[in-house]
Amino acid sequence: MFLNRIFCIFGKHKPDRHKVRHNGHTFVGRCKHCGTPMMRDGPKSWSAVPVRSE
Ligand SMILES: [Zn+2]
Repeated sequence: MFLNRIFCIFGKHKPDRHKVRHNGHTFVGRCKHCGTPMMRDGPKSWSAVPVRSE
């Protein structure tokens, strides 16, 4: 939904809880609105995964 993309623009992504998985260290998932990779950095706290450039 377009309105939700406004939150994304301001960094308020929302992880798709149905697609969250554990990578061995933390929970990772994707924003259900824009697909940005995310990782959990605390209870109910998620942040976008920084894009790594080799
Ligand atoms: Zn998003």
